[in-house]
Amino acid sequence: MARIAPKSRKKCFVVANLSEMAKERIRRDVCKTLPATYLHEGKSFCVLHCPNSDKLEVFNNEIHNRLSNEEYNYENCYFPSDIDFSHVSFNKPFYFMGATFAGKVRFMGNFEEELDFRGALFDKESQLIFQHAGLRGGLDLRNAIIRGHLSFEGGEYMNSEDGKLVDVLQLIFEGDRAWLDLQNLIIEKPERVLFHTVRLQPNWFVNVDCRKFVFTDCRWVTADGKKLDTLDELDGAYMKNGFLFPTNPNALLTKTCLQLAENYESNKDYETSSLFWKIANESKRFEEYWGFKIWSLHWWYWLLSFYGESWRRAALCLVVLVSLFACGYVSSFSHFVNPNKQTLVIEEDASETDKQLMKLAEEASGYRLLGWTEAFIYSLRVGALQRPDPQPGNNVAKGLVALETIFVPLQVALLALAIRRKFMR
Ligand SMILES: [Zn+2]
Repeated sequence: MARIAPKSRKKCFVVANLSEMAKERIRRDVCKTLPATYLHEGKSFCVLHCPNSDKLEVFNNEIHNRLSNEEYNYENCYFPSDIDFSHVSFNKPFYFMGATFAGKVRFMGNFEEELDFRGALFDKESQLIFQHAGLRGGLDLRNAIIRGHLSFEGGEYMNSEDGKLVDVLQLIFEGDRAWLDLQNLIIEKPERVLFHTVRLQPNWFVNVDCRKFVFTDCRWVTADGKKLDTLDELDGAYMKNGFLFPTNPNALLTKTCLQLAENYESNKDYETSSLFWKIANESKRFEEYWGFKIWSLHWWYWLLSFYGESWRRAALCLVVLVSLFACGYVSSFSHFVNPNKQTLVIEEDASETDKQLMKLAEEASGYRLLGWTEAFIYSLRVGALQRPDPQPGNNVAKGLVALETIFVPLQVALLALAIRRKFMR
């Protein structure tokens, strides 16, 4: 139990596991002139750092005063009960590094600058709630520990402006300076992490297991509402820790997107799942040779059907493939067997030269070329494995037919797969 220590020159203990230098800095920036008059387990603390709830009234008054003086550094402080940062706009960064929260913490205002919760601890009964808040700077939850609930609740409501009703979207992460960092966040129950009507980007979820987070009506778009771009997401993953660049941001982003895809898939939202599946694969493709490692199967899978996610691309590739083979058949290099082969009667007394010429003419009449329409229909039928007439007459034509009977059915299979993906996995 806390007792009020006799007035002394004792310093605030701050928290265990900190170097004396770090403690000195915190005493200077956070404790300031507060006396270390609270005792806990034999150590003295100021009212902000004392880790129990006996200080409640004095603590609340101190917080109230500090907020009205725009003092926002609460490093390693112990928040014994509920605290509400509501309906006020703050234009300076908030520091809660290493702080402990025992109760509910609610943010409802607009925050122009960063909220820093690195290494903070949210205890069993705690809830960290961002409700209709506008986080226009960053939200840093790296290495924090969440034993209770974490929720982001945006919203969509009607507002009247100049007598007209306007649809207002509050998506929590607003503006192009907004970001979220959850790296190495420790979460006791991931199903208690909730995002409702929030704008999000996949690179915010690298290095955290997001498979069981609850996403409801979230918008996965850029700050200006545009479609996500894989290269921008890779940049985001790359820039994550300032100068400590990750060794392989592509692998990080791929892993995160696969987890997000799994999350949405388990909720039968195949369209959003498909979006993450595409980014995961694109991120993998960009890993080497600027995305043009054409000797890899992955690259061909991308080219021919966008990883089985685009039936339009698969259909287009099928048309191109059939047309290319038609061009091959129409070219003068491809000869086909002529069923109306002329048989020339070679007279006995003809000269040797005449005989040879006639023989050549007979051979030539055994082959014919195809016209455009005929070649196209021919190509279609070969692709459909129908063995159409005329039979190929030379090696070029035979080779083309053999190749087409392999590749066109393969492309048809990719198209079928892409169509199936639209409806199920
Ligand atoms: Zn202190």
